[in-house]
Amino acid sequence: MDFLQDLPGGSPPLTRAHKDRDLGNLLYSSDSDDMATIREPESKVDKDKLDPEVLKNLEMHQGFMRQAINVAEEALAGGETPVACVLVHNGEVVARGMNDTNRSLNGTRHAEFLAISEFLAKFPADKLKETDLYVTVEPCIMCASALRQYGIRCVYFGCGNDRFGGNGSVLAVNSDRGLEEGYPSYGGIFRKEAIMLLRRFYIQENENAPNPRAKGNRELKPVV
Ligand SMILES: [Zn+2]
Repeated sequence: MDFLQDLPGGSPPLTRAHKDRDLGNLLYSSDSDDMATIREPESKVDKDKLDPEVLKNLEMHQGFMRQAINVAEEALAGGETPVACVLVHNGEVVARGMNDTNRSLNGTRHAEFLAISEFLAKFPADKLKETDLYVTVEPCIMCASALRQYGIRCVYFGCGNDRFGGNGSVLAVNSDRGLEEGYPSYGGIFRKEAIMLLRRFYIQENENAPNPRAKGNRELKPVV
């Protein structure tokens, strides 16, 4: 991840990030001082309020999101950006995915794509229409679009992604007008845990950097 070191101070402009850098590696990465990537837009999200639809079956949703969080922990342990997901069909986890962009240097290897690949190795694509996704971070625009094209039934996510989020934070790819039918999306399940995983990753990245930037006080911020 040493390519992050020569980014200019502050958040790199989006255009530069897209043009010069591997999108996947920047997707959840930013100057962690401002934590722009994982800060949810205040106006759009009531942080402690989950959608009534989620509250109807909260324990079940938390159970599946917990499994996604556990996979993200594995990603963190392996030096990957800790974003992970599970696909659930008929009440069972049938596929998992974790971000793999750092190891592979392939910006398309997001958690959702890996889970979809695992799913498609076992089941016909049509079955995704009866399948729900639980992902620790709001899907990016690329993944949100792929999920829509596959007809995912519903998406549940932990924290929002106000830099690249495709389920409402930047674009609402899940529900905008489009050729394919959209899908419902609910955020906020284990939101704080999802954010803390990312913070732990950024701190670890900073400590491992060969030439750490002189930012001084980059400690774990427990308040989310
Ligand atoms: Zn993505």
